[in-house]
Formats: sequence, C-alpha cells, structure tokens
Amino acid sequence: MIEKDFEIKNFTTFKIGGKIGEVVFPQNIEEMCEILLSGESDVKVFGNLSNTLVSSDGFDGKVILTTKMDNVQINGMRVVADAGVKGPKLAQLACEAGLSGLEFMIGFPGSVGGEIYMNASANGQAVSDTLTSAICYSKEEGIVKLSKEELNFAYRTSRCESDGLVVLQGEFELKQKPKAEIKKQMEENLAFRKSHQPSLALPNCGSVFKNPEGNSAGKLLDEVGAKSFSCGGAKVWENHANFIINCENGSSEDILNLMYKMYTEVKEKFEIELEPEVKYLGNKNIREVELCRILNIK
Ligand SMILES: Cc1cc2nc3c(=O)[nH]c(=O)nc-3n(C[C@H](O)[C@H](O)[C@H](O)COP(=O)(O)OP(=O)(O)OC[C@H]3O[C@@H](n4cnc5c(N)ncnc54)[C@H](O)[C@@H]3O)c2cc1C
Repeated sequence: MIEKDFEIKNFTTFKIGGKIGEVVFPQNIEEMCEILLSGESDVKVFGNLSNTLVSSDGFDGKVILTTKMDNVQINGMRVVADAGVKGPKLAQLACEAGLSGLEFMIGFPGSVGGEIYMNASANGQAVSDTLTSAICYSKEEGIVKLSKEELNFAYRTSRCESDGLVVLQGEFELKQKPKAEIKKQMEENLAFRKSHQPSLALPNCGSVFKNPEGNSAGKLLDEVGAKSFSCGGAKVWENHANFIINCENGSSEDILNLMYKMYTEVKEKFEIELEPEVKYLGNKNIREVELCRILNIK
C-alpha cells in the first residue's frame, strides 16, 4: 500500500508532523524485501513512531512504515516476530503461550523493529536479554541473519543504528513460566507506568534524554527546575522532568526549543551533556538545523 502526501501526525505518539511525500506500508516481509532490494539509495524505515519527532513541515522523500508487517510464530520457547509487531501484542501472545521474557513490552507502544534498533528496556528486562537473532537488510550485504552478538547491543542502541540496518524480523528465546505469574508481572509493570509516566492521552514520545552513565536524566532535569519549563505548545510533564508533553498543538520547533532549554540548564549546572533518546524525521528550518546540531539529534 502506497500513500502520497500522507498526513502522519496521528500516526505518531507526539501527534506532531506534516505531510510525508510518500509512505509505503509493506504487508509482509516479502514485500518489504522487494522494496529494499529494488536499489533505492536512501530508505527511511520507522515502526510505530513512538520515539520519533516528525517535522511539522513534513518530509519530501519516501518513508516505509512497518506497522502492517505483524506476523508472529511461536514454536516451543522460540518466538519469531516481524518488525511491525507491536510490543504489547507480542507480550500478550507470549503470556498466552506461558512464555516469560517480554513482560516489559506490555507497557509502551514500540514495534519489534524499533525496539531491536533501540534495544528497548524497562522493568529490569531488555530486548538484548532474550533476542537470539534478527533478519536485517544492509545496503552492502542485502538480507542477512545476524546473531545477538553481531547486533552489538548497548544502552538504547544497537548495530542497526550505527550501520544503518533495517530490521525485518526478530527471534526470541523465552523461558516457560506459569501464565498467572507472567500476567501478574505485566499488571505490575502497567501499574508502575501509570504512576510514573504520562499516558498516551498526553501526546509524548517516552523519555526525551538517555540516562547519563551512573545518573538519571529525570533527576538532573528535576534539579534544574525543568518541570516548570515550556515552549510554545509543548511543556515538560509536571510529574517527571524527562517527559515532554505536546499539550497545545506544539510544533517540532517547540519540542526542539524545549529540549535545548533542558539540555542547556543541565549542562550549565552539572557540566553534563544530555544525549537525546528521541529520533527526528523530516525537513528542518534554519533554527531546527541548528538545534539538531547542538543536541546531536539524528
Ligand atoms: C509513553 C511511552 C513510554 C515509553 N517507554 C519506554 C520504555 O520504558 N523503554 C524504552 O526503551 N522505550 C520506551 N518508549 C520509547 C519507544 O516506545 C521505544 O524506543 C520503541 O523501541 C520505539 O519503537 P517504534 O517502533 O515506535 O520506533 P520509531 O519511533 O518508529 O523509530 C525509532 C527508531 O528506530 C528506527 N526503526 C524503527 N523500526 C525499524 C526497523 N524495522 N528497522 C530499522 N530501524 C527501525 C527508526 O528509524 C528510528 O530511528 C516509550 C514511548 C512512549 C510514547
């Protein structure tokens, strides 16, 4: 399925973003491979856009969204999921099969591809704990199966980011556990989230900055008074200083200006340069080019 001049705003958890020149929704891995192997040079691939700030001015190029690629196969303790499978769906399916290791995915809206790319983690579990391999596309080698070791997982990143790999499918090896225990863990994860993070009714993209080594971005931001910061239609969440809420039709520039204020205050007070977790997609005006450069947003 191909959409031209696609209004992407409501497909993002930030509810920000202008028109995208062309959006392709491959229906399965075969279709995705066909597009990737057709030789187009600069293909941008996204999942559920829950960690991405999309330009209010949109993007003139082509974007692939994986959301329709959502096949899951469970065989014994092995779970194979396409890149577009949503984390909460995968956690539920694993639970129904009495398999433990993906309970953390229940609480946030990423796709398997985005979660592998970012090495998503929460509640003491991470993608890299249970992922055994992923089928990826690389410009140099085409379609390759990479082991967990070859994917170079680290905190909120992987080789997919450093080498520009596209994730097509991930394979996880889980452990058997009584369903009631898995369910209880997922309920606890959801309850924790409810009390510590904004719901999607308040448009946001999760944590804005990564935690610096041995420190907490939320704590540092709290100590510079970030909970009272706002820019245009965006503000820092009053209950946790590492979340930005798009409260009044904020623009991508509002978000970047607010991130710059948060970054600058922490840098001045603690001499620590916070590193953004959020990614950027699309055109940039002159101010946005400058802000992305300073903040080192990719
Ligand atoms: C309310 C809320 C809570 C959150 N809590 C957490 C949390 O606890 N822990 C956590 O780790 N994250 C959390 N997040 C952030 C986010 O959900 C994760 O980073 C998730 O992994 C992103 O998945 P996505 O599909 O939305 O990625 P997108 O936003 O679509 O993309 C993010 C990056 O991944 C790349 N990408 C996506 N799919 C692919 C693919 N198939 N192949 C190659 N690259 C790809 C994109 O190019 C982009 O660079 C939260 C977000 C929200 C809104």
